[in-house]
Amino acid sequence: MAENRGRRDRPSRGPRTKSRVNAGERSDAGATETRRRSSVAAHRRVVPPSDMTTALAEWFANSQRDLPWRRRPEPYRVWVSEIMLQQTQVATVVPYFERFVDRFPTPSSLAAADEAEVLKHWEGLGYYRRARSIHAAAKVICDRHEGVFPTDFDSVLALPGIGRYTAGAILSIALNQSHPILEGNTIRVHSRLFAVTDDIGQASTQKRLWECADQVVRQATRSGVPPGTINQALMELGASLCRVKQPACDDCPVAKWCSARERGIAESLPRNDRKSKFESRREAVLLVERRGKWLVRRCGADERWAGLWDFPRFDVTHAPCDASRLSAELEQRCGLRVSLLDTGWSHRHAVTRFRIELGCWRATQVDGRLRVSAEDRSRQVEWSWATRGDLEDLPLSATGRIVVNRLERLADSPCD
Ligand code: SF4
Repeated sequence: MAENRGRRDRPSRGPRTKSRVNAGERSDAGATETRRRSSVAAHRRVVPPSDMTTALAEWFANSQRDLPWRRRPEPYRVWVSEIMLQQTQVATVVPYFERFVDRFPTPSSLAAADEAEVLKHWEGLGYYRRARSIHAAAKVICDRHEGVFPTDFDSVLALPGIGRYTAGAILSIALNQSHPILEGNTIRVHSRLFAVTDDIGQASTQKRLWECADQVVRQATRSGVPPGTINQALMELGASLCRVKQPACDDCPVAKWCSARERGIAESLPRNDRKSKFESRREAVLLVERRGKWLVRRCGADERWAGLWDFPRFDVTHAPCDASRLSAELEQRCGLRVSLLDTGWSHRHAVTRFRIELGCWRATQVDGRLRVSAEDRSRQVEWSWATRGDLEDLPLSATGRIVVNRLERLADSPCD
C-alpha cells in the first residue's frame, strides 16, 4: 500500500515537489534579486538629498573647532595647514602652523628661507619630505606665479607635494571653488554614507568614492551650501563623530541618510584589505664627545630624515650590537676611532612602518681624523662637531632631539 501510494503519489508528488522547489527557488531567487538590487541601489546611491547637505552644514556651523587657518582661510595659509595635517593630528599641528606662518607669512618669504630654517620650523612634525616639498613649491610659486598662490586647479596640482585632494581642499576651502576631496576622514564618511563595501585599496573603489564626494559637493552647491563648508563639514564629521571605532551615529546629523548605519555595518567600513605591516628594527645611536662638542651628521638626500641632523646611528637589527662592531662601523664611515660604552638607556619609537628600539652608546675618541667619504659627499651627507648651543639650533630628527634633551644625563650615566 505504502509502495502503491508511493507509486501513485510519485507522479503527482514529483511535479508538485518540483513545482514547490521551483517556486521556492523563484521565491529565494526573487528575494536574493531584491536584496541584490537594493544593495546595488544602495551602492549606487551617489546623489545625496539636499536635506542631507543642509543638515551637515548646519551641524558644522555649530560644532566646528576654532582653528587658526579657519580664521583667515587664505590659499597660502590653507595650503600650509593641509600639508601639515597630512599624517598629523590637528592638536599637534596648531602650534607648528602658528609659528610657521608667523615666520613665513607669504610664499615669497618661505621661498627665500634656507632649507635648514624651514626644517627647523618643521622639527618634531615628522614626514620631513613635506617640509622640503612646501619649500620647493614656494619657489615655484615665486618663479611662475609672481609669488601669489595660484587659483586654478591645474596650476595648484602642478606644485610639488600637491595631489588631487590637497588641490581640491585648498581651492574649495579658501576660494569656495567646487572641488571634491577625499582623504582618511572623508573616505570613512563616504564609505559609510553610501555603504561602499569594496576594498578601498582598489582603483575602482577609489573612483566610486571620488564620485560620491563629487556628488555631495554638487548637491551642497545646489542647496546653497558653499563647497568649502561642505568639505570641511565632511572632514570634521569624520574626525569627531564618524570615527573608526564606535561611530557616534546617535548624534550624527546625517544618520537618517546613512546606508551603512541602516544596514548595521558602519564599524566594518571602510574595508581595507591591505593591512599595515610593521617592521621591527633595532638601532644604536652614538654620542661621541670631543672637547665639549658632539659628533653629528646631516642625513643624506636618500635617507629617512634627509636634510636633518642626527647623531651617528646604526641599524643593528640583524647583527649583534657590541662596542667593537659599532666602533669599526663608525671608523669606516667617518675615520674616527672611538671607545664605546653602553649607557643602558633605550627608547622605543615609530617611523613610518618601522617600530624601532633605539639604544644609546657613549663614545670617546681615541684616534683618527674626521673625514667625509666620496659616497657621503655624493649623498649630501655632512659630518660636524656641534656645541651644546649648536644642538639647540640645528634641525634635528625627533629622536635626535630626545637625545639632546637628556644629553647631560646620558653623558654622565653609569655604563655597563
Ligand atoms: S550615521 Fe554613523 S556611520 Fe553614518 S555617517 Fe553618521 S556617524 Fe558615520
